[in-house]
Amino acid sequence: MKNFKMTLRGLIILFMIGMVFTTLGSMAFLFINFDIRSGEHSMVIKNPYLWFALFMVIIIIFYMILVLLMNRYIFDPIFAMRKAAEHIQSGNLNYPIEYDADNEIGAFCTEFDKMRIRLRDTILEQHEIEKRRKRLIASITHDLRTPLTSIKGYVEAIQDGIVKDQDTYEKYLATIAEKADQLNHLIDDLSVYTKQELGEFTLNLERLNSGKILSSYFDHKIDEFKYSHIHLELRKPFISTYINVDPYRFNQILENLIGNAKKYAHTKIVVSTKVIDYHLQIAIQDDGDGIPTDVLDSIFDPFFMVNKVKDQKEKGGSGLGLAIVKQLTERHGGKITVESGIGLGTTFTIDFPLDI
Ligand code: ADP
Repeated sequence: MKNFKMTLRGLIILFMIGMVFTTLGSMAFLFINFDIRSGEHSMVIKNPYLWFALFMVIIIIFYMILVLLMNRYIFDPIFAMRKAAEHIQSGNLNYPIEYDADNEIGAFCTEFDKMRIRLRDTILEQHEIEKRRKRLIASITHDLRTPLTSIKGYVEAIQDGIVKDQDTYEKYLATIAEKADQLNHLIDDLSVYTKQELGEFTLNLERLNSGKILSSYFDHKIDEFKYSHIHLELRKPFISTYINVDPYRFNQILENLIGNAKKYAHTKIVVSTKVIDYHLQIAIQDDGDGIPTDVLDSIFDPFFMVNKVKDQKEKGGSGLGLAIVKQLTERHGGKITVESGIGLGTTFTIDFPLDI
Protein backbone atom coordinates (compact mmCIF):
# COMPACT_ATOMS: atom_id res chain seq x y z
CA MET A 1 0.00 0.00 0.00
CA LYS A 2 3.01 2.20 0.55
CA ASN A 3 3.57 2.73 -3.16
CA PHE A 4 -0.10 3.03 -4.00
CA LYS A 5 -0.74 6.03 -6.19
CA MET A 6 -4.15 6.93 -7.53
CA THR A 7 -3.96 8.07 -11.12
CA LEU A 8 -6.23 10.78 -12.40
CA ARG A 9 -8.00 8.32 -14.68
CA GLY A 10 -8.47 5.96 -11.74
CA LEU A 11 -9.88 8.75 -9.62
CA ILE A 12 -12.41 9.77 -12.28
CA ILE A 13 -13.46 6.14 -12.91
CA LEU A 14 -13.87 5.61 -9.16
CA PHE A 15 -16.05 8.70 -8.95
CA MET A 16 -18.17 7.61 -11.92
CA ILE A 17 -18.65 4.15 -10.39
CA GLY A 18 -19.52 5.79 -7.09
CA MET A 19 -22.13 7.96 -8.78
CA VAL A 20 -23.65 5.08 -10.78
CA PHE A 21 -23.89 2.91 -7.64
CA THR A 22 -25.36 5.73 -5.58
CA THR A 23 -27.99 6.37 -8.28
CA LEU A 24 -28.81 2.67 -8.75
CA GLY A 25 -28.79 2.06 -5.00
CA SER A 26 -31.13 4.92 -4.31
CA MET A 27 -33.52 3.81 -7.10
CA ALA A 28 -33.49 0.22 -5.79
CA PHE A 29 -34.09 1.43 -2.26
CA LEU A 30 -37.11 3.42 -3.35
CA PHE A 31 -38.50 0.62 -5.53
CA ILE A 32 -38.13 -2.03 -2.82
CA ASN A 33 -39.72 0.07 -0.16
CA PHE A 34 -42.42 1.73 -2.14
CA ASP A 35 -45.23 -0.14 -3.84
CA ILE A 36 -46.16 1.92 -6.86
CA ARG A 37 -49.39 -0.01 -7.60
CA SER A 38 -50.89 0.36 -4.12
CA GLY A 39 -49.26 3.67 -3.50
CA GLU A 40 -48.21 2.33 -0.11
CA HIS A 41 -44.83 2.43 1.39
CA SER A 42 -43.01 0.30 3.90
CA MET A 43 -42.16 1.28 7.40
CA VAL A 44 -38.65 2.17 6.39
CA ILE A 45 -39.82 4.95 4.22
CA LYS A 46 -41.96 7.31 6.10
CA ASN A 47 -41.78 9.94 3.44
CA PRO A 48 -40.41 8.76 0.05
CA TYR A 49 -40.04 12.34 -1.24
CA LEU A 50 -37.69 13.14 1.59
CA TRP A 51 -35.56 10.14 0.74
CA PHE A 52 -35.60 11.05 -2.93
CA ALA A 53 -34.46 14.56 -2.05
CA LEU A 54 -31.69 13.12 0.14
CA PHE A 55 -30.40 10.92 -2.69
CA MET A 56 -30.52 13.88 -5.04
CA VAL A 57 -28.45 15.95 -2.60
CA ILE A 58 -25.86 13.15 -2.36
CA ILE A 59 -25.65 12.91 -6.16
CA ILE A 60 -25.36 16.68 -6.51
CA ILE A 61 -22.52 16.70 -3.95
CA PHE A 62 -20.82 13.94 -5.95
CA TYR A 63 -21.18 16.00 -9.14
CA MET A 64 -19.85 19.13 -7.44
CA ILE A 65 -16.79 17.31 -6.16
CA LEU A 66 -16.25 15.84 -9.63
CA VAL A 67 -16.52 19.28 -11.26
CA LEU A 68 -14.08 20.71 -8.68
CA LEU A 69 -11.62 17.89 -9.28
CA MET A 70 -11.90 18.24 -13.05
CA ASN A 71 -11.37 21.95 -12.69
CA ARG A 72 -8.30 21.50 -10.57
CA TYR A 73 -6.71 18.57 -12.31
CA ILE A 74 -7.80 19.06 -15.92
CA PHE A 75 -9.01 22.58 -16.73
CA ASP A 76 -6.45 24.51 -14.63
CA PRO A 77 -3.44 22.81 -16.26
CA ILE A 78 -5.04 23.12 -19.72
CA PHE A 79 -5.48 26.82 -19.05
CA ALA A 80 -1.85 27.07 -17.86
CA MET A 81 -0.70 25.30 -21.02
CA ARG A 82 -2.79 27.51 -23.25
CA LYS A 83 -1.27 30.57 -21.60
CA ALA A 84 2.23 29.15 -22.06
CA ALA A 85 1.46 28.29 -25.70
CA GLU A 86 0.30 31.88 -26.28
CA HIS A 87 3.58 33.18 -24.82
CA ILE A 88 5.58 30.79 -26.99
CA GLN A 89 3.58 31.87 -30.04
CA SER A 90 4.41 35.51 -29.33
CA GLY A 91 8.10 34.61 -29.06
CA ASN A 92 8.46 34.57 -25.28
CA LEU A 93 10.12 31.24 -24.55
CA ASN A 94 10.95 32.14 -20.96
CA TYR A 95 7.40 31.67 -19.67
CA PRO A 96 7.26 28.44 -17.65
CA ILE A 97 4.18 26.25 -17.14
CA GLU A 98 3.48 26.41 -13.45
CA TYR A 99 1.84 23.05 -12.89
CA ASP A 100 3.77 20.21 -11.42
CA ALA A 101 1.15 17.83 -10.02
CA ASP A 102 2.14 14.19 -9.76
CA ASN A 103 -0.40 12.83 -12.26
CA GLU A 104 -0.85 12.29 -16.00
CA ILE A 105 -1.63 15.95 -16.74
CA GLY A 106 1.32 16.99 -14.54
CA ALA A 107 3.59 14.68 -16.54
CA PHE A 108 2.21 16.11 -19.79
CA CYS A 109 2.85 19.68 -18.56
CA THR A 110 6.40 18.73 -17.55
CA GLU A 111 7.06 17.28 -21.03
CA PHE A 112 5.55 20.38 -22.63
CA ASP A 113 7.80 22.57 -20.49
CA LYS A 114 10.84 20.48 -21.44
CA MET A 115 9.89 21.04 -25.10
CA ARG A 116 9.77 24.79 -24.44
CA ILE A 117 13.22 24.75 -22.80
CA ARG A 118 14.65 22.68 -25.68
CA LEU A 119 13.16 25.06 -28.23
CA ARG A 120 14.53 28.07 -26.32
CA ASP A 121 18.02 26.50 -26.12
CA THR A 122 18.00 25.64 -29.83
CA ILE A 123 17.00 29.19 -30.75
CA LEU A 124 19.68 30.65 -28.44
CA GLU A 125 22.24 28.29 -29.99
CA GLN A 126 21.20 29.38 -33.48
CA HIS A 127 21.52 33.03 -32.50
CA GLU A 128 25.00 32.29 -31.15
CA ILE A 129 25.99 30.53 -34.42
CA GLU A 130 24.61 33.43 -36.42
CA LYS A 131 26.54 35.92 -34.26
CA ARG A 132 29.73 33.87 -34.67
CA ARG A 133 29.21 33.71 -38.44
CA LYS A 134 28.81 37.50 -38.60
CA ARG A 135 31.93 37.99 -36.46
CA LEU A 136 33.81 35.59 -38.72
CA ILE A 137 32.81 37.46 -41.87
CA ALA A 138 33.78 40.77 -40.24
CA SER A 139 37.18 39.33 -39.25
CA ILE A 140 37.80 37.84 -42.72
CA THR A 141 36.94 41.13 -44.38
CA HIS A 142 39.16 43.06 -42.01
CA ASP A 143 42.10 40.68 -42.22
CA LEU A 144 42.00 40.52 -46.01
CA ARG A 145 41.57 44.25 -46.42
CA THR A 146 44.46 45.30 -44.14
CA PRO A 147 47.35 43.80 -46.15
CA LEU A 148 45.59 44.64 -49.44
CA THR A 149 45.29 48.31 -48.46
CA SER A 150 48.92 48.45 -47.57
CA ILE A 151 49.98 46.69 -50.82
CA LYS A 152 47.87 49.22 -52.75
CA GLY A 153 49.50 52.10 -50.82
CA TYR A 154 53.05 50.94 -51.60
CA VAL A 155 52.25 50.24 -55.28
CA GLU A 156 50.69 53.70 -55.67
CA ALA A 157 53.72 55.30 -54.03
CA ILE A 158 55.97 53.58 -56.57
CA GLN A 159 53.63 54.46 -59.49
CA ASP A 160 53.46 58.12 -58.45
CA GLY A 161 57.24 58.29 -58.49
CA ILE A 162 57.47 59.16 -54.80
CA VAL A 163 60.19 56.54 -54.35
CA LYS A 164 63.41 57.97 -55.66
CA ASP A 165 66.25 55.86 -54.33
CA GLN A 166 66.94 52.18 -54.96
CA ASP A 167 67.06 51.29 -51.22
CA THR A 168 63.56 52.58 -50.52
CA TYR A 169 62.29 51.01 -53.72
CA GLU A 170 63.60 47.61 -52.64
CA LYS A 171 62.23 48.08 -49.12
CA TYR A 172 58.81 48.84 -50.57
CA LEU A 173 58.96 45.78 -52.81
CA ALA A 174 59.99 43.59 -49.85
CA THR A 175 57.03 44.91 -47.84
CA ILE A 176 54.68 44.25 -50.76
CA ALA A 177 56.03 40.66 -51.01
CA GLU A 178 55.64 40.20 -47.24
CA LYS A 179 52.04 41.46 -47.29
CA ALA A 180 51.27 39.22 -50.28
CA ASP A 181 52.70 36.24 -48.33
CA GLN A 182 50.54 37.18 -45.37
CA LEU A 183 47.48 37.23 -47.63
CA ASN A 184 48.43 33.89 -49.12
CA HIS A 185 48.86 32.34 -45.69
CA LEU A 186 45.54 33.74 -44.53
CA ILE A 187 43.71 32.47 -47.62
CA ASP A 188 45.31 29.01 -47.23
CA ASP A 189 44.23 28.79 -43.58
CA LEU A 190 40.80 30.12 -44.42
CA SER A 191 40.33 27.56 -47.15
CA VAL A 192 41.28 24.71 -44.77
CA TYR A 193 39.06 26.13 -42.04
CA THR A 194 35.96 26.58 -44.20
CA LYS A 195 36.40 23.17 -45.85
CA GLN A 196 36.54 21.61 -42.41
CA GLU A 197 33.64 23.70 -41.14
CA LEU A 198 31.51 22.58 -44.08
CA GLY A 199 32.59 19.00 -43.52
CA GLU A 200 34.14 18.97 -47.00
CA PHE A 201 37.07 16.80 -46.09
CA THR A 202 37.42 13.16 -45.36
CA LEU A 203 39.53 11.50 -42.75
CA ASN A 204 41.49 8.49 -43.90
CA LEU A 205 41.64 6.82 -40.53
CA GLU A 206 44.28 4.19 -39.86
CA ARG A 207 44.96 2.18 -36.74
CA LEU A 208 48.43 3.40 -35.93
CA ASN A 209 50.98 2.88 -33.21
CA SER A 210 51.23 6.13 -31.28
CA GLY A 211 54.91 5.63 -30.40
CA LYS A 212 55.81 5.11 -34.04
CA ILE A 213 53.82 7.95 -35.53
CA LEU A 214 55.06 10.42 -32.89
CA SER A 215 58.70 9.33 -33.26
CA SER A 216 58.53 9.57 -37.02
CA TYR A 217 57.13 13.13 -36.81
CA PHE A 218 59.55 14.35 -34.14
CA ASP A 219 62.64 12.70 -35.68
CA HIS A 220 62.19 15.11 -38.58
CA LYS A 221 61.19 17.98 -36.36
CA ILE A 222 64.27 17.77 -34.15
CA ASP A 223 66.45 18.67 -37.18
CA GLU A 224 64.47 21.87 -37.62
CA PHE A 225 65.27 22.86 -34.02
CA LYS A 226 69.04 22.27 -34.41
CA TYR A 227 69.65 25.86 -35.39
CA SER A 228 66.99 27.38 -33.17
CA HIS A 229 67.63 28.94 -29.77
CA ILE A 230 64.71 26.87 -28.51
CA HIS A 231 65.38 23.41 -27.17
CA LEU A 232 62.89 20.69 -28.12
CA GLU A 233 62.78 18.16 -25.29
CA LEU A 234 61.08 14.88 -26.13
CA ARG A 235 60.08 12.80 -23.10
CA LYS A 236 60.85 9.45 -24.67
CA PRO A 237 59.92 6.69 -25.02
CA PHE A 238 56.56 7.92 -26.27
CA ILE A 239 53.74 5.68 -25.11
CA SER A 240 53.25 2.87 -27.55
CA THR A 241 49.56 2.11 -27.98
CA TYR A 242 47.02 2.20 -30.80
CA ILE A 243 44.96 5.15 -31.98
CA ASN A 244 42.74 5.70 -35.00
CA VAL A 245 44.03 8.71 -36.88
CA ASP A 246 44.51 10.15 -40.33
CA PRO A 247 48.34 10.42 -40.43
CA TYR A 248 48.29 13.55 -42.62
CA ARG A 249 45.81 15.36 -40.35
CA PHE A 250 47.57 14.12 -37.21
CA ASN A 251 50.81 15.69 -38.43
CA GLN A 252 48.87 18.86 -39.28
CA ILE A 253 47.67 19.07 -35.65
CA LEU A 254 51.19 18.59 -34.28
CA GLU A 255 52.65 21.01 -36.82
CA ASN A 256 50.28 23.76 -35.69
CA LEU A 257 50.87 23.21 -31.98
CA ILE A 258 54.65 22.87 -32.28
CA GLY A 259 54.68 25.89 -34.63
CA ASN A 260 52.85 27.98 -32.02
CA ALA A 261 55.02 26.72 -29.17
CA LYS A 262 58.14 27.60 -31.18
CA LYS A 263 56.78 31.09 -31.86
CA TYR A 264 56.03 31.82 -28.21
CA ALA A 265 58.55 29.75 -26.18
CA HIS A 266 61.51 31.52 -24.54
CA THR A 267 63.94 28.64 -24.25
CA LYS A 268 62.28 25.24 -24.46
CA ILE A 269 59.38 23.04 -25.49
CA VAL A 270 58.62 19.74 -23.79
CA VAL A 271 56.60 17.00 -25.48
CA SER A 272 55.28 14.16 -23.33
CA THR A 273 52.67 11.39 -23.53
CA LYS A 274 50.50 9.54 -21.06
CA VAL A 275 47.43 7.31 -21.06
CA ILE A 276 44.42 8.19 -18.93
CA ASP A 277 41.06 6.37 -19.04
CA TYR A 278 41.77 4.65 -22.36
CA HIS A 279 42.82 7.93 -23.94
CA LEU A 280 46.25 8.90 -25.21
CA GLN A 281 47.24 12.38 -24.11
CA ILE A 282 49.98 14.27 -25.91
CA ALA A 283 51.09 17.42 -24.09
CA ILE A 284 53.08 20.21 -25.72
CA GLN A 285 54.42 22.57 -23.10
CA ASP A 286 56.36 25.77 -23.64
CA ASP A 287 57.98 28.28 -21.32
CA GLY A 288 56.66 31.38 -23.10
CA ASP A 289 54.85 34.36 -21.58
CA GLY A 290 51.62 32.35 -21.36
CA ILE A 291 48.08 33.33 -22.25
CA PRO A 292 45.94 35.50 -19.91
CA THR A 293 43.45 33.23 -18.14
CA ASP A 294 40.49 35.46 -19.00
CA VAL A 295 40.93 34.81 -22.74
CA LEU A 296 41.61 31.08 -22.52
CA ASP A 297 37.98 30.32 -23.42
CA SER A 298 38.31 32.27 -26.69
CA ILE A 299 41.66 30.85 -27.75
CA PHE A 300 40.10 28.28 -30.12
CA ASP A 301 37.77 30.82 -31.79
CA PRO A 302 38.61 31.58 -35.42
CA PHE A 303 40.65 34.78 -35.85
CA PHE A 304 41.22 35.15 -32.13
CA MET A 305 44.65 36.46 -31.24
CA VAL A 306 45.79 37.59 -27.81
CA ASN A 307 47.56 40.59 -29.26
CA LYS A 308 46.30 41.02 -32.81
CA VAL A 309 48.88 43.58 -33.96
CA LYS A 310 51.87 41.73 -32.48
CA ASP A 311 50.69 38.20 -33.33
CA GLN A 312 49.87 39.15 -36.90
CA LYS A 313 52.88 41.33 -37.63
CA GLU A 314 55.65 39.66 -35.68
CA LYS A 315 54.45 36.07 -35.70
CA GLY A 316 52.76 36.11 -39.11
CA GLY A 317 49.60 34.59 -37.67
CA SER A 318 46.07 34.37 -39.05
CA GLY A 319 44.37 33.36 -35.81
CA LEU A 320 42.97 30.26 -37.50
CA GLY A 321 45.56 27.66 -36.45
CA LEU A 322 43.98 26.61 -33.15
CA ALA A 323 40.46 26.68 -34.62
CA ILE A 324 41.68 24.25 -37.30
CA VAL A 325 43.44 22.07 -34.71
CA LYS A 326 40.29 21.93 -32.56
CA GLN A 327 38.11 20.94 -35.53
CA LEU A 328 40.58 18.25 -36.58
CA THR A 329 41.01 16.80 -33.10
CA GLU A 330 37.26 16.66 -32.53
CA ARG A 331 36.69 14.99 -35.92
CA HIS A 332 39.04 12.25 -34.65
CA GLY A 333 36.79 11.82 -31.61
CA GLY A 334 39.36 13.55 -29.45
CA LYS A 335 39.61 16.86 -27.66
CA ILE A 336 42.08 19.63 -27.04
CA THR A 337 42.61 21.53 -23.80
CA VAL A 338 44.90 24.36 -22.76
CA GLU A 339 46.50 25.32 -19.49
CA SER A 340 48.17 28.68 -19.26
CA GLY A 341 48.54 31.90 -17.37
CA ILE A 342 50.73 34.97 -17.56
CA GLY A 343 54.32 34.02 -16.71
CA LEU A 344 53.42 30.32 -16.47
CA GLY A 345 54.05 29.17 -20.03
CA THR A 346 51.44 27.24 -22.00
CA THR A 347 50.52 23.58 -22.29
CA PHE A 348 48.25 22.30 -25.04
CA THR A 349 47.04 18.72 -24.53
CA ILE A 350 45.46 16.68 -27.31
CA ASP A 351 43.56 13.63 -26.31
CA PHE A 352 42.69 10.66 -28.59
CA PRO A 353 40.62 7.60 -27.68
CA LEU A 354 42.65 4.39 -27.78
CA ASP A 355 41.83 1.60 -30.23
CA ILE A 356 42.88 -1.49 -28.30
P1 ADP B 1 47.83 31.46 -35.70
O1 ADP B 1 47.29 30.54 -36.73
O2 ADP B 1 47.86 32.87 -36.11
O3 ADP B 1 49.09 30.98 -35.07
P2 ADP B 1 46.34 30.37 -33.53
O4 ADP B 1 44.88 30.13 -33.69
O5 ADP B 1 47.24 29.20 -33.65
O6 ADP B 1 46.74 31.50 -34.54
O7 ADP B 1 46.59 31.05 -32.14
C1 ADP B 1 45.74 32.08 -31.72
C2 ADP B 1 46.42 32.96 -30.70
O8 ADP B 1 46.66 32.19 -29.53
C3 ADP B 1 47.79 33.42 -31.13
O9 ADP B 1 47.68 34.60 -31.88
C4 ADP B 1 48.45 33.68 -29.78
O10 ADP B 1 48.08 34.94 -29.32
C5 ADP B 1 47.85 32.61 -28.89
N1 ADP B 1 48.71 31.44 -28.72
C6 ADP B 1 48.62 30.27 -29.39
N2 ADP B 1 49.55 29.40 -28.95
C7 ADP B 1 50.23 30.03 -27.97
C8 ADP B 1 51.31 29.66 -27.11
N3 ADP B 1 51.87 28.47 -27.18
N4 ADP B 1 51.72 30.58 -26.22
C9 ADP B 1 51.15 31.80 -26.14
N5 ADP B 1 50.15 32.21 -26.92
C10 ADP B 1 49.68 31.34 -27.84
